[in-house]
Parts: sequence; C-alpha cells; structure tokens
Amino acid sequence: MTSRFVSLDTYDVRFPTSQHLDGSDAMNPDPDYSAAYVVLRTDSTEVGEGTEGHGFAFTIGRGNEVQTAAIHALRPYLVGRLVKEVLDDLGGLWRELVHDSQLRWLGPEKGVMHMAISAVVNALWDLKAKRAGLPLWQLLGSMTPEELVDLVDFRYLTDALTREEALEILRAGAQGRAERIATLLEQGYPGYATSPGWLGYADEKLRRLCREAVDEGFTQIKLKVGADLEDDLRRMRIAREVCGPDVRIAVDANQRWDVGTAVEWVRALAPYQPWWVEEPTSPDDVVGHAEIARRIAPIPVATGEHVQNRVVFKQLLQLDAVSFVQLDAARVAGVNENIAILLLAAKFGVPVCPHAGGVGLCELVQHLSMFDYVAVSRSMDDRVIEYVDHLHEHFTDPVQLRGGRYLAPLAPGFSSTMRAESRARYAYPDGPIWNPTNTP
Ligand SMILES: [Mg+2]
Repeated sequence: MTSRFVSLDTYDVRFPTSQHLDGSDAMNPDPDYSAAYVVLRTDSTEVGEGTEGHGFAFTIGRGNEVQTAAIHALRPYLVGRLVKEVLDDLGGLWRELVHDSQLRWLGPEKGVMHMAISAVVNALWDLKAKRAGLPLWQLLGSMTPEELVDLVDFRYLTDALTREEALEILRAGAQGRAERIATLLEQGYPGYATSPGWLGYADEKLRRLCREAVDEGFTQIKLKVGADLEDDLRRMRIAREVCGPDVRIAVDANQRWDVGTAVEWVRALAPYQPWWVEEPTSPDDVVGHAEIARRIAPIPVATGEHVQNRVVFKQLLQLDAVSFVQLDAARVAGVNENIAILLLAAKFGVPVCPHAGGVGLCELVQHLSMFDYVAVSRSMDDRVIEYVDHLHEHFTDPVQLRGGRYLAPLAPGFSSTMRAESRARYAYPDGPIWNPTNTP
C-alpha cells in the first residue's frame, strides 16, 4: 500500500515501415511507425500486483525524439509519489497534468505535450488495470457512473454535455452490462481492414489484399485516396469489383483537400459508393468539415485521428460535421479524455469507429470500443475498429481477430506492453535495426 513510483523511463522506438510503403497515404508517403514509449516503474513487490505501467505516443518517425522528450518532462509529476494515491484519483492527476501552469503554454491541450500526457495517462491506466487483474475495458466497465464522470474534465464541454447528462448516459449504460459483456466475450467486436488500401501498393497487391480481407470475414475495408483522381477511380473500381456490392468501402484522404476539391473529388467517387470519407480536409477546420458534409450528403464524413482534443470533437458534433467519430487512443490526453469523447458521441448519437493505423493503436483502441459497447453507447451498430495487420508481434498481448472481429482481450492491463527485445532492437538511433554495427 505504501509503494511509490520510482522512475519514469522513456524509449525512442522506430520501425522502418517506409521500406515497404506500409502505411503510405496521400499526405504521409513514407512513414516509419514509431512509439515514444514510457515505462512507469514502482517499488511494489507484492505478489500478483502490477509493478509497471506501459504507454506510448504514436508518431511516424522524425520528431519521435521530441515526443519522447516531452514525455520525460512529466517525470516530476510521478516519481516519488504513492502509487495508490495516484491511481485512486486519475481524474485529479489528469487535471494536474493538463492544466500545469507552465507546460500548458505549449498547447494548450494539443500537440506534442498533450500526446505526452496521453502516453503517461495511458501507462497509469495500464498499471491500474494490471493491479485490478482485469483488461482495461472490463475495469472501466465495472466502474460506477459517478466514478466514471469523475474522470472527465467538463471544462469547455458544458454547453454540449453536462456532468448530469453524462451521468444519465452512464446510468442507462449500467443496465444490461452483464449481457453485453457476455456477448462481447462470445462474439467479439467488428473490425475493418485498412491494410489492403495503402496508397503505395500496386493494383495487383490491392486486388489480392481486398480478396484476402473479404475471405477473412471483414465486411468493411478502406482505401487511401487523394493524390490523383484517375488513380483513385481505378483503385475504387478494382476494390468494388473484388469486394462486391455488399462490402463497405471507406475512403481516406488524410487531409489532402481544400473544401471545394473535397466536394468535387468525392462526387466523382460517388458511383462506387464510398461508405465514409475520412479526413477530407484540415483536422482543425470544423466549419469546412460541416460544409463538406452538407454538400456530399448522403455520403458521410468521418474524422478524428488528428483531432487534438475534446473541444474540437464537441464542435464537430455540434455542427453536424461528422457522422463517425474516429477517436485515437494516444492523441488526446489518454483514457480520461476519450471517455469524454465517447460520452459526447453518445449524447449526439454518432457512432465511434476508432483510428488504429499505427503501431500498437489497435491494441489500445479495442479497449475503448469495448468499454463503449458495455457501458456507454450499448451498441455495435455501424461501429467498427480499424485494423492494420502489422507490428502486432512486438506486443506481449497482441490483438486477436477471428472472422474479421476483434476478440475481447483477457489479459490484465491496456495491452500496451511492447516486448523488451523489440524495444531494444528497434531503439533509435542505436538499436541494431538502425545501426547494424551494434549487435545486441
Ligand atoms: Mg485515417
């Protein structure tokens, strides 16, 4: 009970994914999927109790050292403090970190510093879930409505969602939880496949990967678009041919367009029935998203992976600018802020389909979607978790899919622990992958 945090250690870990164009899209042609990784260590020696919390911010290569340094700047908030005190009031700790009077200047509540808080907050949730002996989704699903709203900072939200309204949503969500947990354990949660549609893949590879996704049981795939309209039309035609009329094909422009271009481009793709249009323009342009949504209706707009905080999500929902909320586990400030976003989406009746194109993001977001189903929206209708099929082997509790559905993770924690060997092998710039003269 008296154990304390003894260290906050950071690691710059990078995977050379750009060599095979995995992850390539119209704005990010050569990503090296990376993690600014953090391990919170405690002096706890009690048997069966978690002693470490693991978390990370996802980046795509250059700048990962900046992200790692930002995480390190949060060290004074934890080292030396009582573990139990911190974990018993993660709402309080979130406010301390986010509202630090000096660090706040670097945002506020956006960008590198906010993502650093995400890594640390998520590592704390990993530790809390490990100590509870539960996977995170189930730990959150076992908390009372009052405990859950205490995690949320309602500052800037109350014109759209009050604490009382959030409590009502969660009280309704408390009914039938046991049945929904049973459903989840039995059937899993639907996923969709992004891997077929990376922009850098040749047509033959696209064709093969679409076929494989459908054969595996996925009912939705996604194509990257936005670099060249003729290419997009050809690739959409191929995907539609291979997948047939019943598989949903979402398209993702990764912020490539201005508002007018987005409207024209999407109208040109309309004959192939895109299920949603993702990130059509700047993630900060709330009014632009609303305008696009209005002009391409009934084709829906989706966004979220670069939405920097709950306030922007609030505005997107208030203006009917999005039909799908794509929260990201590690861009906003971790689990707490994502609970706020799940509640906002529930209030507006908009499905949450998390972003997971990255390293370790599938592992994280599955917990948030499953918690949403158990305790917030209570629905899987039109809800899917993105799935990319690489780099899972580097995690100790990798996602498992069957028939295109995520199986509910059962191991205690947030599934955020990267294997120590991987952390060492892909360490930048001195790990053996990056500097072959260094052998482990
Ligand atoms: Mg995307």
